[in-house]
Amino acid sequence: MASEQKVNDRSNAATVEFPTIEPLRFPEERARVAVVQEKLKQAGGMNGTQAIEWGKDRGILQPDQVVMAEFSPSYRCSESCDGCPDSLLLLMIAIERNLVPRLETRADLGIMNGRLDLLYGLGARHIMFIGGTIDGLAETPRIITHALDLGSDIRVSWFSDGIMQINENGERSNLYHRFIKQGWIQKVATHVSMDYPSDIRADRNTQLPVKKGRLEEFEKDGEYSRRFKSQFGAQYATRLIEDGVRRVVVNTTVSPHNIGQVLEIYHQVEGLQKYAISIGSPTEVLWTFSPWIWRPHQARGDSTKQSPASGGLQMADMDKVNEVFKFILDEEFHRIQAGLPRLLANSSGYTGLMANPKYRQITVDQAVPYGIGPEILQVDPDGTVQLDSMFAGPELFGPDAVSVHSTFGYRDREPRKEKNPFTAYQKPGKPWFANIITT
Ligand code: SF4
Repeated sequence: MASEQKVNDRSNAATVEFPTIEPLRFPEERARVAVVQEKLKQAGGMNGTQAIEWGKDRGILQPDQVVMAEFSPSYRCSESCDGCPDSLLLLMIAIERNLVPRLETRADLGIMNGRLDLLYGLGARHIMFIGGTIDGLAETPRIITHALDLGSDIRVSWFSDGIMQINENGERSNLYHRFIKQGWIQKVATHVSMDYPSDIRADRNTQLPVKKGRLEEFEKDGEYSRRFKSQFGAQYATRLIEDGVRRVVVNTTVSPHNIGQVLEIYHQVEGLQKYAISIGSPTEVLWTFSPWIWRPHQARGDSTKQSPASGGLQMADMDKVNEVFKFILDEEFHRIQAGLPRLLANSSGYTGLMANPKYRQITVDQAVPYGIGPEILQVDPDGTVQLDSMFAGPELFGPDAVSVHSTFGYRDREPRKEKNPFTAYQKPGKPWFANIITT
């Protein structure tokens, strides 16, 4: 478990507090979670909304505690990014070995809409639709529209890499036009991936990479999937800005592969924000980051080959990590002070963790403990509700709970300072600013 330790902060000679972590990693962390998972399995698992009942019965799920939910209508995806459990290449192998069914088990629209009603009743006011990739699902527009209709206080986001919505010549595809005609895409926040800088120019079309045969390229180089989708994501963001949608959030997964280019990506997103302002677009343009995640994946039982700690940030990367995020954090403090629009959507604490050399070991070990939830629920494609985006619930909360650690970005979306797990890493002497994804 985490414990509080007083540490001398030499930068301002004040005493600050931050957690130190028991050195529990794979296989111990996994072994402990496996015991809870086995117990759950013996009891028949948690299906449908049983996790909610489990949480309520034990007083773990309290009224007004839930802030948001991640909603996955499908985990299937046409891309194959290294380290992603939803990669198509991984899925094809799993199907071949009869480990998963060829057709994904997915709840029907009535059940999914019912889940949204339930989440809203539990207090969730931000629904984030996520996959896999859900652009091509017939029910996506209808589920999102149902979410938008839940109440005037609801905020809806969705993730899309834009590959299905943007043609190789940079123009809007038929699917894109359909979404605009349906009217929902203008009202939601669209999150797009940009893990690499893009070649696009906002003021003219760019030839994007060829879609056909890309899987063979991904097979040769798993990182190419991220470079590929980054090109489409950047062009997609431009088109959405031109059409004046509510909000575009560009997201970057930070890893040893791209840390040297994160600042360039940040400046490109800044350029997108300037472009929106220059053409009079009302679209709010934001940027978020999240370190590439291995720890909770290992803990929940995903293969260590697929989620190795060596894929995440290493000590050798930390000079660059600290330099990049110190710059970005200071820029955001400056923006806020100058009354400029936010660009960084993450909180000051989360960014402070990446900016301060004092927290290097915590960043590399992804050693920020859970213990705040359950505030962020998860709905799976078959309609199962979980108390966390990674875990059913009992692994983290309740009598058998295990101290699992991670720095996964969704944990920063808790807007309440006293509940956000990253406040401990706030830059001393500077005002807190919240993650604004749920706003
Ligand atoms: S596009 Fe997203 S869901 Fe698909 S493989 Fe890449 S990271 Fe995973």
